[in-house]
This record gives sequence, structure tokens and C-alpha cells, in this order.
Amino acid sequence: MQPHVNPLRVAVLGGGPAGLMAAWRLRQAGLDVTLFEQESELGGMCATQRFTGQDGNYRFDYGGHRFITKNPELLAFVDELMGDDLLHAERKSVIRFGGRTYDYPLNLGNLLRTAPLALMAGALKDLVLLPFAKKPADFAKASFAQWIQAHFGRTLYRQFFEGYTGKLWGIDPARLSADWAGQRISLIDLKDVARRLLPTRKGAHSVRTYARKYRYPRLGFGQIYTRLGERLLEEGVTIHTLARITGLSQENQRITGVQWEQEGESKCSQFDWVISTLPLPLTCRHLGIACELEYRSLRFVNMPLLQENLSDNTWQYLSDPHILATRLQEPRRRSPFMAPHGKSSVMLEIPCNAGDETWSAPLSALRSKVTADLASLGVDTARLGQETFEARSEYAYPLMDLGYQARRDRAIQALMPIGNLIMTGRQGTFRYIFTDTAMEMGLMAADMVIDGVDRRHAIFNHRNENTVIETQSVA
Ligand SMILES: Cc1cc2nc3c(=O)[nH]c(=O)nc-3n(C[C@H](O)[C@H](O)[C@H](O)COP(=O)(O)OP(=O)(O)OC[C@H]3O[C@@H](n4cnc5c(N)ncnc54)[C@H](O)[C@@H]3O)c2cc1C
Repeated sequence: MQPHVNPLRVAVLGGGPAGLMAAWRLRQAGLDVTLFEQESELGGMCATQRFTGQDGNYRFDYGGHRFITKNPELLAFVDELMGDDLLHAERKSVIRFGGRTYDYPLNLGNLLRTAPLALMAGALKDLVLLPFAKKPADFAKASFAQWIQAHFGRTLYRQFFEGYTGKLWGIDPARLSADWAGQRISLIDLKDVARRLLPTRKGAHSVRTYARKYRYPRLGFGQIYTRLGERLLEEGVTIHTLARITGLSQENQRITGVQWEQEGESKCSQFDWVISTLPLPLTCRHLGIACELEYRSLRFVNMPLLQENLSDNTWQYLSDPHILATRLQEPRRRSPFMAPHGKSSVMLEIPCNAGDETWSAPLSALRSKVTADLASLGVDTARLGQETFEARSEYAYPLMDLGYQARRDRAIQALMPIGNLIMTGRQGTFRYIFTDTAMEMGLMAADMVIDGVDRRHAIFNHRNENTVIETQSVA
């Protein structure tokens, strides 16, 4: 592609982390930037919502977030932006399953103390037999079920992964790509679980593990992005909120018009470049390009808790298939300012597909079900406040079912000829990535506009599925 000289006007579609960072870099380079966001607030899936209950203000993320990154410059940027408002926190998580509570990541000492004898016997047998078991010829093409059984054995797969994964994704783990396991779970296998039992330097200290420490803003994760939005306004970026992109016009392999709707009014604007952080299938649809990719959605049910603490866990993973939610969290564990003094709150993440029974269920019915589930987990539900607050995320997880990579590649290839369109961020690339990676992708998209060097393949491959995303955080 020819370097683009003097790009004047750039449209950034979507005001999540990727779009905001792209707008920031573009504006620093002196370009004329207009950002469109369909919601009233910036931050995308990283936004924090406020809820005023009878005891005061509660704040909830779309599923509790943590800021972790391997990129010291990005951390310095966020540090400078947030100043004293960026707190340090430490992760502690458990798995609740079959009436028992296990440490997560799994470790053998805890398993020995907690697990039923039959489970331990099965796991130990797997540990001995695993080196001799038949492995998938190509892990890149394997299913999640094959991947986990090759790394953890059949017993732990059946106990800890099968039910949880089926519930989270809404499909049989045998139909889910191993990519998800490769990114989220790959740094720990059954040998690591076993090594944790060893007291020597060769044992526990050499075990690879997930990032424990993380950063979290005082007033919720979204504070990073509302503050970044304020900076952008100060710097002269035009930001349209409650502005939904409804179409894109194309001529001679260039985007010639961006159609958008605000307060019931339809408008159309022209730009030299378009950076889209909208979901890949949505951008494709606006351009008449076929794209067979789907998302898993989430509903969040949030309730006040009339006591200071439920537990000291950052997350409780709820593995039992009959329990509706996949995770239980207390926002207060991330920052004490997420609930009124002396009170806490609980948040339940409920996976579903947009439009299905769970997505459409009345909030009162959902609350009754999750309250019964909480009681079955030993929570004193009499301590729950009467108010219920909810949120939804239609595009929560890119559905990484078997063969999704080829379908994603076809969509990407079909968009490539459009020279002034750059897809970026988690939604724009249909990638299961964390916030820091989405922010980096936003910067890469802006750099392409600024210097004309085509970075679109690099954006799609940035920290790709072979990279473990949770380790080695400098935060
Ligand atoms: C449950 C859950 C927990 C997570 N936890 C963590 C965590 O702990 N740490 C972490 O780093 N990451 C976490 N993530 C991932 C993180 O949320 C994403 O990586 C990040 O939000 C991606 O940013 P983005 O800008 O690419 O996309 P988004 O945040 O989705 O932003 C896209 C934006 O585009 C807007 N948009 C969409 N369609 C239109 C339209 N037609 N017109 C106008 N605007 C539109 C959306 O409203 C949104 O604001 C989590 C994600 C989920 C679902």
C-alpha cells in the first residue's frame, strides 16, 4: 500500500480501550479525530456502572476487571493518567464445585486436603499415565476437550473443566477450539499442579503461575477510560456519544461515508481514514461482506450485601452445571470504594446467547434463581439487599468454536482491499484479548494512519493465540 500523505480526518468507531487509545495517539500527531460511541459513557466492556441503592452508591464493572500488562510504557501511561487513583490489588480465586471449595490455580496440597478420594486416585493415575497417553497430532487444530485431557488428564477434565466450559460457552467443549485453553490455561499442567506440593526450590518456586498482582482504579475499572475521554476532549478530539454507527459506504476500495444515528437523527460524515473497533461481523455486515462468526453474551446480576465481606476471593468460579452463573464476585475486593462504607455487593456473571431464554428472562426471575444458587453455595441470602441492578454485554466473548480461525481469516481477507479501513481491538479482530492488548492494538492502528506503514496483519497477530495472556504482568 502507498504511504498516505497528510491524512486530515480520521473516524474512530467505538469508544472502548482500543478506540480511545487510537484517538489519543492520532491527536498527539495533530490529526483531526472524531470518535463515535453508541453508549452514553466511554469505556466499552471496561466501563463501570453506578447504581444508587438505599444505602448509597455501588459500582460494578461488566465482570470485574483487573489491569495487568507486560508493557512498561503502557503501565507508565496509565499510571500518569490515574495518579493516586490507581490502587494495587492481589488476586485470590477459588473453584466451587460439588459442595467443595478448591484453590485456583489448582495445587496438589489443596486437592489432597479437599478432594474426594476417588478424584485424587483418578488424578494420580492420570499423572503416572499421562506421558504415555495419545496426544492430538496438531494442538492448533485440537478441541478444548482434547487439549485439557492431554495436559491435565481425564479426571480433572471431567471434574473441573467440562461442566464449567460447557456452561460458559454454551457448546460441548469437544466443539470448542483449543485456542482458548492455549491462551488461558497453557502455563499450568498436571505436572505443575503436582510440583506445587514440593517444598524445595525445585518444587513450588519453579512452578509457572498466573499474575497475582494487578492494578485497579479507586472508582472502578472504567475510571481509566472516563479519564482518558476527558483528556481527549481537552486535546480537541470530537466525541459523539449515544451515536450508533449504522452503515459504511464504499467506493473504489475506500470507505467514502460513515452513517450514524444520534437522538433519532440519521447523519453521514466523510473521513480520510476509518479505524473500526466494532465487532468484526458488524463491520462486515455494514459492507455487505459475509462473516460467520458468533459471540457469547453475558448478563450481570448485581445485588447489595448488607455486610462488609462475603469472602476474601477476587473470583469464585462456579463449576456446577446446575448453577446459572459462572462467576461470583465482590467488587469491593478490587477497591473498597465500590460499595458504601460497611456494605458490600455481589455480582454474578451469567453466560447466554443474545435473544435466548436467559437473555430475555425478567430480572426478577433471574434474581430468584441466582439467590437460590447462592443459598446452595452457603451464602446467607437474608443479608442481600432488596435492590437488583443488571447489565448486559452482547459481544462478551468471541465464540472460538472449531474452525473459527478459517472463518475469521476469510472475513479479514475480504476487508483487506479496503485501503483506508483499519480493524482493531478485541471486537474488531475477533480475538480473546485483554485490555492492555486492545490498547496496544489501538496505538498500532493510529501509527498506520500516521506513517502510512500497513500494520493490519501485525494488528491481527499482535500477542496472538500462541501467547499466554496472563503471565509476567509488570503491573
Ligand atoms: C467478563 C469479562 C471480564 C474481563 N476481564 C478483564 C480483565 O480483568 N482484565 C482485562 O485486561 N481485560 C478483561 N476483559 C477484556 C476487556 O474487556 C477487553 O479486552 C476490552 O474491553 C477490549 O476493548 P475494545 O476497545 O477492543 O472493545 P470494547 O471494550 O468492546 O469497545 C468497543 C466499543 O464499540 C462500541 N460499539 C459497538 N458497536 C457500535 C456501533 N454500532 N456504533 C457505535 N459504537 C459501537 C461499544 O459500545 C464499545 O464501547 C474482560 C472481558 C469480559 C467480557
